[in-house]
Amino acid sequence: MKFPPVFKTHQRPLLIAGPCSAESETQVLEVARALKLTGVHLFRAGIWKPRTRPDSFEGVGYDGLKWLQRVREEIQLPVTTEVAKGKHVDAVLEHGVDVVWLGARTTVNPFSVQEIADALKGVAVPVLVKNPLNADIQLWIGAIERIYKAGIRRIAAVHRGFYKYGEKRYRNIPYWQIPIELKRQFPDLQLICDHSHICGTPDLLQQTAQRAMDLNYDGLMTEVHPNPPAALSDSRQQITPAEYKKMLSSLIVRVPGTEDSLFWRELDHIRRQIDEIDDEVFQLFSERMKLAEQIGVHKRNRNISIYQPARWNRIRERILSKGSSLKLAKEFLTAVIDAVHQESIQHQGEVMNKAPEPDKAAREKIKSENLFK
Ligand code: PEP
Ligand code: MN
Repeated sequence: MKFPPVFKTHQRPLLIAGPCSAESETQVLEVARALKLTGVHLFRAGIWKPRTRPDSFEGVGYDGLKWLQRVREEIQLPVTTEVAKGKHVDAVLEHGVDVVWLGARTTVNPFSVQEIADALKGVAVPVLVKNPLNADIQLWIGAIERIYKAGIRRIAAVHRGFYKYGEKRYRNIPYWQIPIELKRQFPDLQLICDHSHICGTPDLLQQTAQRAMDLNYDGLMTEVHPNPPAALSDSRQQITPAEYKKMLSSLIVRVPGTEDSLFWRELDHIRRQIDEIDDEVFQLFSERMKLAEQIGVHKRNRNISIYQPARWNRIRERILSKGSSLKLAKEFLTAVIDAVHQESIQHQGEVMNKAPEPDKAAREKIKSENLFK
């Protein structure tokens, strides 16, 4: 798949902002006016709201489309809204909505995505595809493919974080490695960070937007409401236009590269050292696995199970206790040592199950021992 840009790159970062939901004509126009002055490129407002529990505010529906039309015509701000059904697509197209987005609860459902894709056939409107609720990159790519196969080329991905049971810090855990992988596979797909739905609270918005800039994202989607405590949906995460302006003013925008050859020479010098260290690290891993294989031979000879919980606990504790002196995060150490353990089990398993006959003498010894005496 090849993706032409949804918006021009000189607009980087593309600023998409507006309330979670369109609530009234006054609210929509008031916040759109304020955002126009802040330099926002695309105004967002949900008309049909996918709410987790029934009896919540489910959006104003079709009425809101006329308010969005006023934003386009009177305030001269392009608009975007969420579509979750084929008939939403028909309605937004009739009202001249500039860009549509697929929400996280839609991306998880191929039937819904296909229905929307079918309604979009033959239309040139750009489409933003939010990540699915669960951390499944294939589902995200699948939704993008369905829209692409409907003939839409101007597609961008919106990273809004992933549901994780028990997660406390974020409303939706970002798992930055997933959008990074998406961008690796599709380098020309523009990527937008919806930091409001990742954070779920205003305190983390700034640093999450900065992380997105550091990772070379193309744009930001932010929920902005004239009076957040009174918002009918997502009131805890929305900010005022003044807070939005302040957040933008302290954002450092990064560029993807430079023509300055001195910079690249300096970087090359450091990168060469990094490559050498990586080579050494993996060489050491390989030697570690050879030792694990030797252990496998001994365990095989005595029919001892590979997994030894007490030993594994000691290894883990020993490595984790080094965390602060090595200046490495606990999550990193845990992920590495867990991966090393899995690889080690794999190597031992091969030795124990594929190797030729175990040591005969050791076998005889085991046979002669009566376990129940
Ligand atoms: C929204 O943008 O208001 C929304 C419902 O988002 P998501 O689909 O990411 O939950
Ligand atoms: Mn919302």
